[in-house]
Amino acid sequence: MAQTHLLTLTYKGDHNKPDTAHETQNFVDNELVSSTTTKWIEVHDPATNNVVSRVPETTLDECKAAVISAQNAFPAWRDTSIMKRQEMIFKLTNLVRENMDSLALSIVTEQGKTFADAKGDVLRGLQVCETACGITTQLPGEVLEVAKDMETRSYRLPLGVVAAICPFNFPAMIPLWSLPIAIVTGNCLILKPTERAPGATMIIAELCKKAGFPSGVVNVIHGSKPAVDFILDAPEIKAISFVGSNKVGEYIYERGTANGKRVQANLGAKNHAALLPDSNKKHALSAIAGAAFGAAGQRCMALSVLITVGKAREWLPELIENAKGYQAGSGFNARSDLGPLITPQSRDRCVDLITSAEKEGATIALDGRDQKPEGFPNGNWVGPTIITGVKPEMRCYQEEIFGPVLLCVEADTINGAIDLINSNEWGNGAVIFTQSGSSATHFQKRVESGQVGINVPIPVPLPMFSFTGNKRSVAGTGMLNFYGKDGIRFYTQWKTVTSLWRTEDATDLEKPTSM
Ligand code: NAD
Repeated sequence: MAQTHLLTLTYKGDHNKPDTAHETQNFVDNELVSSTTTKWIEVHDPATNNVVSRVPETTLDECKAAVISAQNAFPAWRDTSIMKRQEMIFKLTNLVRENMDSLALSIVTEQGKTFADAKGDVLRGLQVCETACGITTQLPGEVLEVAKDMETRSYRLPLGVVAAICPFNFPAMIPLWSLPIAIVTGNCLILKPTERAPGATMIIAELCKKAGFPSGVVNVIHGSKPAVDFILDAPEIKAISFVGSNKVGEYIYERGTANGKRVQANLGAKNHAALLPDSNKKHALSAIAGAAFGAAGQRCMALSVLITVGKAREWLPELIENAKGYQAGSGFNARSDLGPLITPQSRDRCVDLITSAEKEGATIALDGRDQKPEGFPNGNWVGPTIITGVKPEMRCYQEEIFGPVLLCVEADTINGAIDLINSNEWGNGAVIFTQSGSSATHFQKRVESGQVGINVPIPVPLPMFSFTGNKRSVAGTGMLNFYGKDGIRFYTQWKTVTSLWRTEDATDLEKPTSM
């Protein structure tokens, strides 16, 4: 019998698992369907490493069934009135809001972030749903009378079956970067959530059914490379949205586009902040610590490099004191500031990178390698870590760490800080802390990163704009970003119609028509 994530898998708000009996199911034709696979991937609670559930490596036949479901649903869904689609998105938006706690509890259990962070994860996805409710004013094309009696009008039409492949770090937000826009524009979607935290996607799929989306408009398949390769090669799938690591995303972009698909791919990052000595110290230091250590640094917009400009270097002891107040712990404990890393391998890699910095001559000014909250001996813990005296050639600077580690570099001038940021291959985000509008404007104009913060530590735009990372933080040209106006462009294709209705051909203009 189908087990629903929303109703049967009760997240108790603690770590009283394991629930090894629970099997995550596929979602096809608006039904939860058990996989017949023989290959299962265990989902672990990162705070305990207990098994929470298991997720199938969805079989090829099951992947095909999901695509057939989406293909069958497409003609009727494309022809469903925009008002009807909008009504369903409104309902979904309300349902996501009403089920925020269930979604957040599922995220804490499978991904480990704190409950407050998990609610933020859902909220940022909810905001994309809310924005998609305005589709009736976002989708219209254009019309122009190009000559006497001749006009050209343009329509934005859906692509057909599209797919989204998601990472572990925002189990609700990132599926919702794609889902509302893909379906409200008339496409049918295949979602492939992360195999490490699939629960939120399953809840969202069930909420789509509750909101009235017809069978086949949203389908969910699971697994790792085999499911992704299926999506990359299936000719019926016209477009792929990917968020994840560089290694995987560059592969997906290459193979997906070689197969003639549209691919948008958001990848890794190394986000810098320039701290000027004229900034509001209290605000800046607290914002820097929150952006570096919150969500255990497992945000693509986490602050990973602090450039102290000139005398701002003297504030480092205060930053370190501030960071000591951040406690790693269970996401269910309201006093925890950050949860564990996602897997033991991620933890080991993070520890290894900290150790490499030490060996290469940097100073571990705050060391989170041994931080282990009481009662959780088996979790993947790393506490807030600050490394000073970092040089760009060090391994810790060259690689994305994806942990609660802040690297500190010094620059004498703003231009020195800008040069360092611009010489980095990634371009997701860059931030300046200053009280000088002129310095901020200079920074904003010269820095190459696609998302700039001025006294704002994590400058992710709300979904009426798009997520605009650049350079190696996106694959390919990065022309069509996630959500906002670009999101609608990504999921639609233009059709233009030019018509000539000659006035001369109108019958009986001066007298009543004989017909
Ligand atoms: P990941 O690349 O390991 O996994 C992402 C997806 O790819 C998953 O669904 C996974 O099943 C699939 N996958 C994994 N290995 C694969 C393979 N060999 N072949 C095909 N598919 C494969 O990423 P992750 O660890 O889940 O997420 C963390 C990464 O995501 C970080 O690098 C982070 O910066 C990035 N990220 C970027 C953004 C952004 O907007 N730029 C946002 C969030 C996360």
